[in-house]
Amino acid sequence: MKLNPEDFQAQTLLLAPQWTLIDEVPQADLAVLIRNGRFEAVGPAQDLRQQFPQIPMQALPGRLLMPGLIDTHHHLTQGYGKALAFGEPSEIFKRIWVPLEQHLTEEDLYLSAKLTALEALRGGFTTVCDAGTRSQAGLSAIESAVQQVGIRCVLAKICHDLGSSEREIEALMAQAQQHLTHNRPDSGLHASLGIAIPEAASDAMLHRVAHLCREAGVPFQVHINEHLASVERSLVARGLRPLQVLQQADALGPELLAAHVTLVTPSELSQLSDAGAAVSYNPVASSWKGNAVAPALQMHSMGIRLGLGTDGTRGDAFRLMDAAETAQRLTVGMAVGDFSMGAGWTWLRMASAGGADAAHLSHITGRIAPGLAADCLLLDVNVPELTPTWDLGWELVRLAHSGLIEMVMVGGRMRLWKGWPLDWDAQALMQRVRERAAEAVRSAPIHRVHPTSAKARQAQRAPGQD
Ligand SMILES: [Zn+2]
Repeated sequence: MKLNPEDFQAQTLLLAPQWTLIDEVPQADLAVLIRNGRFEAVGPAQDLRQQFPQIPMQALPGRLLMPGLIDTHHHLTQGYGKALAFGEPSEIFKRIWVPLEQHLTEEDLYLSAKLTALEALRGGFTTVCDAGTRSQAGLSAIESAVQQVGIRCVLAKICHDLGSSEREIEALMAQAQQHLTHNRPDSGLHASLGIAIPEAASDAMLHRVAHLCREAGVPFQVHINEHLASVERSLVARGLRPLQVLQQADALGPELLAAHVTLVTPSELSQLSDAGAAVSYNPVASSWKGNAVAPALQMHSMGIRLGLGTDGTRGDAFRLMDAAETAQRLTVGMAVGDFSMGAGWTWLRMASAGGADAAHLSHITGRIAPGLAADCLLLDVNVPELTPTWDLGWELVRLAHSGLIEMVMVGGRMRLWKGWPLDWDAQALMQRVRERAAEAVRSAPIHRVHPTSAKARQAQRAPGQD
């Protein structure tokens, strides 16, 4: 059955998809009432038809309605780089991101954030947590970009104090306080504070920022134990591992949203669990630039709160869930003969309700449940990939892909139809990005260690070979 975008533009919608994903379980013959941006009622289609006889029910055969997914770790202003970082050794920020960011104008920051937010939305993410940008221009660029695209965003203001004077520090704290009061959930903007890595701030600052976040009930975003280089850097600078730096500063609590956490000792796992901290498990980032994978299933079994994150690698929620499962299979499951590795649903949960919890947004998004914002995806499941269907939960992790997403809705408002916005010009955005990115990359002192794929191929080719 062919659907039209007009079918989803009313303020009140009573949808009856073939399947609805409720708490990681696909259920048939339910209906969902969406009104004023929220899920108002969820139940058997027959019941809702009787309860709301005045609202026309839209049957959606061959479709699955599922919660919009959550990217718990992103860098929206890094959209110009992408494949520049491919095949590069771990500390990409030093050789690519920092040189590139220094050559970004305010317009570039805005374009990059808008492009990246659109990619995320196309990939099935209705919420992204941005780990922060150092500049005020970056912060306001992200704010405008995400609001125009219509993705929900948890946006960190970075609070680094090393090398700053007393006065500068107090000014920074005033800005941080102001950023926190900026929380505008109705517009999809959610405040957060961040420190890129623990040794980038003094113990006093770590403590203050963590406690500000705790009081405000917002996440404190930090990269923790990302790879060997970062652990060694912390050991050399502070004599402590990154997580120990937080612990020493009394900055380890339920507010923490720690990205990566790949190299983790048994006692660090206990500390994270005891503190009620959350981890953003970033399997694609680990495989592209790390040297270990977070023991996500072990963390999960210890009760550590977990979401999934892209770290700006690629904005595809389905490929991220697949990578999350595969990375655990390769690093843990194969060695111990665990073929189930979370039984499918674990990865769906980390990408939805788990991610919402890690982002301190459980009261707003992550599930299809009455009272929550209508952040959801409509998938066409009447496709060869999912035929026959025996286990839709598993199939969503291993067989589904973002190409199946027909409609993306955030806060009850349709934002994408078949991958594209209908209310603004994505083609014009991409054209401008191509022009501006070429200019920024040309002028930035980027240092790449490896050649492009084509140059590597040409270098391999012996004379006379084609
Ligand atoms: Zn990151």
